[in-house]
Amino acid sequence: MRKPLLKHAQVVRLARILNMMYKPPELAEEIGVTPDTIYRSYIPAGLPYIREGHSLWIHGSTFVQWARGMIAARRKTHSDLPKGYAYCLKCNQAVEMIEPRIVYTNLYVRIYQSNCPHCDRHVNRFSKRERGQ
Ligand SMILES: [Zn+2]
Repeated sequence: MRKPLLKHAQVVRLARILNMMYKPPELAEEIGVTPDTIYRSYIPAGLPYIREGHSLWIHGSTFVQWARGMIAARRKTHSDLPKGYAYCLKCNQAVEMIEPRIVYTNLYVRIYQSNCPHCDRHVNRFSKRERGQ
């Protein structure tokens, strides 16, 4: 499953989250997502929560920490890709690019695309153009 990507709008709103317990719909409203996003996306991806009878509670500061960790992990994965690899969003891992083709090019960059060897979905890799290439 694809990791939940917090959009920029949500990252900015993390600053509003307080050091208190939130019910999922309250937290969802604070960061501008639907409660479903929390249940179906964040919790399966490892967001810590507390269950009390039939209700779930999420600790605000813990959520912020978790969210920032997710963002940092994502950045790291992308910048550490070895040459000839691309990141598959479906498989959530770096995969080898087999017979990459150029799908876009301008003076500065090229975008290579190939199919993920595991799930066959398109994967893309951005690369800077060196002079003369
Ligand atoms: Zn894949």
